[in-house]
Amino acid sequence: MGTSNMIRADSPPSHDFIRNIITEDLKANKNEGRVVTRFPPEPNGYLHIGHAKSICLNFGIAAEYGGVCNLRFDDTDPSGESVEYVESIKSDVRWLGFNWADRLFFASDYFDRLFQYALQLIKDGKAYVCSLSAEEIREYRGTLTEPGKDSPYRTRSVEENLDLFKRMQAGEFEDGAHVLRAKIDMASPNVNMRDPTLYRIKRVTHYRTGNKWCIYPMYDFTHCLSDSIEEITHSICTLEFENNRPLYDWVLDELNVDCHPQQIEFARLNLSYTLLSKRKLMELVERGYVTGWDDPRMPTLAGMRRRGYTPEAIRNFCERIGVAKRDSIVDMALLEYCIREDLNQRAPRVMGVLRPLRVVIDNYPEDQVEEFNAPYHPQDPGMGSRKIPFSRVLYIEREDFREDPPKKFFRLAPRREVRLRYAYFIKCVRVVKDKQTGELIEVHCTYDPETRAGWSPDGRKVKGTIHWVSAAHSIPAEVRLYDRIFRVPNPSGDNFVRYLNPNSLETITSSRVETSLADAAPGSRYQFERLGYFCVDSVDSSDGALVFNRTITLRDSWAKMESEEKSRE
Ligand code: ATP
Ligand code: MG
Repeated sequence: MGTSNMIRADSPPSHDFIRNIITEDLKANKNEGRVVTRFPPEPNGYLHIGHAKSICLNFGIAAEYGGVCNLRFDDTDPSGESVEYVESIKSDVRWLGFNWADRLFFASDYFDRLFQYALQLIKDGKAYVCSLSAEEIREYRGTLTEPGKDSPYRTRSVEENLDLFKRMQAGEFEDGAHVLRAKIDMASPNVNMRDPTLYRIKRVTHYRTGNKWCIYPMYDFTHCLSDSIEEITHSICTLEFENNRPLYDWVLDELNVDCHPQQIEFARLNLSYTLLSKRKLMELVERGYVTGWDDPRMPTLAGMRRRGYTPEAIRNFCERIGVAKRDSIVDMALLEYCIREDLNQRAPRVMGVLRPLRVVIDNYPEDQVEEFNAPYHPQDPGMGSRKIPFSRVLYIEREDFREDPPKKFFRLAPRREVRLRYAYFIKCVRVVKDKQTGELIEVHCTYDPETRAGWSPDGRKVKGTIHWVSAAHSIPAEVRLYDRIFRVPNPSGDNFVRYLNPNSLETITSSRVETSLADAAPGSRYQFERLGYFCVDSVDSSDGALVFNRTITLRDSWAKMESEEKSRE
């Protein structure tokens, strides 16, 4: 694994080795100048950001070279596959900004053709029905250092193989009684070539083909033939399939198909502080560590969308990380940088107070309400502005007041003056505490009417500016503060749940936000000034009961924490 900081946020997108191969192929007029790629998910879970890398690569290349990209569901293992996953994958690909037009395919639509291909291999003496048990097959396979042994069934006649395979298909045998295997080479140094299984008996209802089939083709047989059927030119997959490439080529060569796509492998995305494995993410869902596949802490596209990530930020991230031939771990901070950068441009600024502290302005008239004009974006006047009501009783952030301010605390404190964003200077004159508990209840201030524009005609300076809302005009909201789902950079191993960050979600139910947010649409994104970027939750938020998800803080607090930890060492 490479180091995590190798990829810099400002590194330009490079012309990667895959695009170089395609450019060369086009120069040589290979495939008559066509470029056809595909994104081939198995519908057995939701897509995660790793899949986004593959989607951006396959659809991106097709677009750049005037080609097309198919969306193909690789649905040959019915246990665990479902329509729900198909639909979620389609909507995630669409949300990311890609369009497969009418090129939606299912490997399960090829079952009949694949069966015919299998018959052909048998007739050509290239495949045989093996009746060893799964365990025996494993024993016969040998190891990385020792060759395997031929199965005693390897010499069955073509007639017997045809008969048995057809009867497997007809449902005459129990699951596991026989498999169909390629007849290649049990002594091959590549274990994948030691007579790999092509079909197994599996009595599981398929979400599309129902109970029509009780035998299902294996990945290595299905994938290359699906690519060939669809006339894919460049079959781009992740590095773990590098040792399967000889088998990919073997199947297509032995069947002498018209179209023989080129498999090209690239390094999968690994991201620090999270996990990109459907199986492990499924475990988090099923064991209840998260609320679902779309929990905003999940690295799934559904979770990231709900959290407030934009498709632009994710595409930009995928472009920045590029594609390489060597595995590495990308720093989560890069993804966070990309979303901050995008939201900084597009998110309107508003004010919200997470943990309210009541402030009474003693010298402000009881019934008076003023309105201040506040632009939605400091650099983008086109975003317009809104009016913010100001009155005698306000809420400020509890953390913005300290009775005993430490050095360098420039916010509100007894006898201190601060600027209220867009409004007046206020000065703290006294505090009110609960007589029994000593708990701070409210803070009393005076305001200076001369400072209406946020500065003082006498030139007096204040060091701090804080955000606020008017108590009577603000609206209640629930705010969910999310943090990284794991507390360590590399939560690997089977017992990965022990690395879960216990503080990955903090729910605050008593927040107050400015009036203009009353009609905020689900999914809409804002910067709460001084606090971070927030998004209206698309599942739990409703009119009159707003719920906001914090997408990301304004600054990278993890970098700060990590550097503090280092300096303490
Ligand atoms: P997982 O390991 O999460 O179960 P998978 O590879 O089994 O993923 P598929 O549905 O088979 O999931 O993946 C569809 C496509 O996405 C494949 O081409 C696969 O190579 C690619 N892909 C999956 N994970 C990543 C990743 N982390 N980075 C890049 N591409 C990925
Ligand atoms: Mg897979």
